[in-house]
Formats: sequence, structure tokens, C-alpha cells
Amino acid sequence: MAHEGRKVTLDHGVHAQSRISADLPSDVASAAYARVDAMARKLRLSDSSRNLDQLRADVFADLLLGNDPGVVVPQSAAMVYLHMPIDTALSMSETGASIDGIGPVPAAYAREIMTNPKSTWRKVLCDPATGNPVDLGRSSYRPNSTIRKVVEVRDRMCVVPWCRRPARHCDFDHQQQWARDGGSTSTSNAAPRCRRHHRMKNAPGWVTHYDPVHGTSSVTTPLGVTYTDKHETVLPPRSSDPDDRTSDTPPF
Ligand SMILES: [Zn+2]
Repeated sequence: MAHEGRKVTLDHGVHAQSRISADLPSDVASAAYARVDAMARKLRLSDSSRNLDQLRADVFADLLLGNDPGVVVPQSAAMVYLHMPIDTALSMSETGASIDGIGPVPAAYAREIMTNPKSTWRKVLCDPATGNPVDLGRSSYRPNSTIRKVVEVRDRMCVVPWCRRPARHCDFDHQQQWARDGGSTSTSNAAPRCRRHHRMKNAPGWVTHYDPVHGTSSVTTPLGVTYTDKHETVLPPRSSDPDDRTSDTPPF
């Protein structure tokens, strides 16, 4: 019996809660559940602050992350891009926070992440006219890596109109090829494209275009059908069209 349909799936739900599930041969799934359950029941003897469901969930996560269940270990810091307006950060507002790649989260949860001692803060500077990030604060990242991160935060997913692949799992594509066309490594010449669509861009007959300032992208297939899309900016732009502003007027 090959169990060819076995798989692991991840679905992001509301309230910053996601579901990870695995389709496995029944004997393997039963054995895995029994192990998680037994460890949770053992922890329950000395931990009354969590119910059995919560303990099983925590044990499950600890096992997958390589932690000893029930033992507090220093965690490797995950870089979470939390987009939140300053008034939300200061508890003056309860809306507008979102996690990169997941979506809107409750403000209280966003503040909890923000104030966690293990969290790393990255300042995301946004152009007030376009609402798009233009730079990240100083860090140990090398310049090219910083540009890559700015592009990930800005575009959030593969720029091909129908593709939802998160930018962090995409290739960093130079719109104008660096070697062949002299394209620069800069935010204005970069776009996340998943591996498949990166290859598609260079395949004969396909015409792709991406305008990072307006967030518009289009793909024309070899049969001449054009698909277009426009992604939302990270923050709402103050001006409806970034071209409206006069560049020599100070932004204050
Ligand atoms: Zn894609």
C-alpha cells in the first residue's frame, strides 16, 4: 500500500491561528497521536495552567521544532514582519496590524509580539505618498540582503497575477537581468517570483511586466491572453496617485 496521498498542509485562519495537518497511513498517525497524547498527559500532572488540548498542541509543536516538550529552551528568533500603524502600537487604535504572509491579526496579539523580549524590531520606512516600504533600519544584513527583505515586505507574494506564493519562498528576480542587461540590484528593479514563474518569465512567448511603484503586474501568455493584477500597498497612500506629488516639495 503506497499511501500516495500522504501530505502535510498548512492553513492560516483568523486570530493569528493556523492549522498544520498531516495525511498519513493510519497506523503512523495513530502512533504519532498516542505519543503526543501520552507526553501531554504526563505534563498535565505538573501543569494545571493548560488543559489537555492545549498541552497536546504545545507538545506537537515542540516535537516538530526540535524542543524538549515541557522544557523551556532559548528559541531561535524568527524574523516576523509585523506591519502596524504607530497608533496601534501605542494602544490608541485596535486595527491595522498584520503579519507578513499571514494577514490581519488582533492588535493585542501584535503588541504581544512587538514587546516580546526575543522579538527583533526592524524599522520599515514607508514612503507616505505611496505607502510602500522603501528601506529597513540598520541591521547586520548586507545591503543586497536588505534590499531583498524590503522587496519581500513590499510585494509579499510572487508578482504573477494569479500566484499567491509568499515572497519569502520566491526567487529574488532582477527585472532587468543583472548580467545581460546591466540591471541594478535595487528595490525598483526587483520582484519576488516563485521558481516556476521565474522560469516562465524567461520562456519564449511570455511577456511579463511589474511596476513596483504602483504595484501593478501583467502577464501575457503565448496565446496573447493578458492577465493583470494590482497589490495593496503596505500602508494606505496619502495621495491617490504617487505621480501627483511634486518631487521637490518637502514631505512635511
Ligand atoms: Zn508564482
